Amino acid sequence: MKTLKDKFNIFYFCIILSLILIISVTSAINLYSIRNEIDKFMINNYDSIKACTNMLSFLEEQNADLLAYINTNDVKKSESLYTNNSYFYKWFNVERNNITEPNEKNLVEQVNNDYVKYMSQLPKFLQIKSANGTEASNVYYENSIKPIYNRVIKDLKNISNLNETAMINNKNKLRDTTDKFLYLILFLSIIAVVIGFLASNYFINKFLRPLYSLNETIKSIKEGNLDIEAPVISEDEVGEVTQEFNKMTKRLKEYENSNAGQLMNEKNKSLAIVKSISDPLVVLDTDFRFKLLNHAFENFFNITENEAINKHFLEIINNSELYKHIFSVINAKEEKDPSKIIQFKSDKQEFYFNVICTLVKNTYANTTGIVILFQNVTELKLLEKMKANFISTVSHEFKTPLTSIMIGTSLVLDKNIGILNEKQKNIITTIRDDGERLSELVTNLLQLSKIESNNEIYEFKACSIIGIIDTCVKNFYERASVNEVNLYYDADESLPRIKADSEKIVWVINNLISNALKYTNAGDEIFISAEVKHNEMYVSVKDTGIGIPEEYIEKIFNKFVQVIGSDSEARGTGLGLTISKEIVEAHNGTINCESEVDGGSTFIFTLPLAE
Ligand code: ADP
Repeated sequence: MKTLKDKFNIFYFCIILSLILIISVTSAINLYSIRNEIDKFMINNYDSIKACTNMLSFLEEQNADLLAYINTNDVKKSESLYTNNSYFYKWFNVERNNITEPNEKNLVEQVNNDYVKYMSQLPKFLQIKSANGTEASNVYYENSIKPIYNRVIKDLKNISNLNETAMINNKNKLRDTTDKFLYLILFLSIIAVVIGFLASNYFINKFLRPLYSLNETIKSIKEGNLDIEAPVISEDEVGEVTQEFNKMTKRLKEYENSNAGQLMNEKNKSLAIVKSISDPLVVLDTDFRFKLLNHAFENFFNITENEAINKHFLEIINNSELYKHIFSVINAKEEKDPSKIIQFKSDKQEFYFNVICTLVKNTYANTTGIVILFQNVTELKLLEKMKANFISTVSHEFKTPLTSIMIGTSLVLDKNIGILNEKQKNIITTIRDDGERLSELVTNLLQLSKIESNNEIYEFKACSIIGIIDTCVKNFYERASVNEVNLYYDADESLPRIKADSEKIVWVINNLISNALKYTNAGDEIFISAEVKHNEMYVSVKDTGIGIPEEYIEKIFNKFVQVIGSDSEARGTGLGLTISKEIVEAHNGTINCESEVDGGSTFIFTLPLAE
């Protein structure tokens, strides 16, 4: 009985089938005995009753013929007196061979004797009838035949009653037997059900015990306990499965050990790399809690790893600009520039860090954390500041002599001082034009250095974009008319207000209109418009001028970039668009250019709304 199949077979054949067999055999035996009882009693009694009834009817017929003969003298009746005799005996023999009841035999013998006597009286009766007539035969009948006839009738009825009573008794007896049989079957069935239930309960528990224990083992393995082994309770199929399962668990454990080891190595390697990075580095989870930080971070922010781990970012570094940057990178729907230069101030010093945020993703591309690297760019920033200061100082120094040169040349060109010849006039005019260009450059350089060095120069306020555009258009209206260029704007009066430093936005739009005027010819158009899109204000300055070659479109926002081949007279300093870009970006906006050579240019920039 090794396999589970054998166990189930044996259980089924031995217990269930033997119970069914016992009940079936008992039922068959009892049904057979009931059938015999019915055959033995009921049918035999019924045959006796039938025989008696027939004997009675033939005897009564015979006697009726006899009486008819007495009264009618019908010879035919006397002849038929003996015909019923054979029928009577036919049924008498049936009854004699079917004696079942006590005393029935005596009654049958009595009937026989009396009937013989009855028949033996007939010749004498016929003789008296023919000799002495009706009266005498009637007397003979009354005295000698009728008593015998009555006795036979009575005995036949007795036999019939005897069998009827026996039939009723047998019916009752049979009912008792069937009742007993019914109870027996009921009893056996209950016993079978109880035995079947107990046995199946016992065996099913016995067969399933190894499965239960395997299930318990699987549960604890699922919880990570790979050291546990499922006990092999039986040698059947479950035992085999358990053995295979144990082998599998062992291999899983080996695999996990090797994997865990490898992972540990990799983790240690990454940890060593992170710790050895000279710039501060920190890893946060998606709830902005510290998960890892390196020595440089500990040193710079003056905090130990133990103090910071699992704390919220803002509990350790209270810098809202940095927090906003990290927050925007984590929550950005599209990929966003992950680096930003952020200023940190300590008691004595100020630092600039290029903060680079890198998202950590799992295999399903879900963000699980963020790595933040703080590249120290303080020295670069200081150098930039020094450069800006230098440019600013030089520009300032240039400004005064330049002004004198400009005034001087204007005075010389003025006829009041004296008339210059054509050559002298040309030289002085060139000096004045170059001086003007130099003065513009100095002004732009000063503007740029002011904007680049200090974000605090901005004063953001809610203001109307239409008002700003209107001011700018008015500034250039006269110049446009002189150049025969149609300068106009279109903006909805109901546009929402923007949050901006209106003076700086005037610089931007002035610069764009000034550029458009430089690169358009008589008959061209300059059109300014503003509209709200994606919750931002889009301002565009469109001209129908000479356009910009494709390869310059990206570059023209860089410092000192000018399109080669542009009209040299119209050339500016190459700083206007750089200043415009700086200003727009300080407003968290963007500036772009769409242009086609000979098809005109469109400069579009965005600004935040006041609400
Ligand atoms: P600039 O003072 O030289 O105009 P900008 O930075 O304002 O300096 O512009 C850079 C260059 O971009 C210009 O020199 C010119 O070649 C090109 N540019 C700017 N605006 C336009 C325009 N509306 N149409 C054609 N070219 C333009």
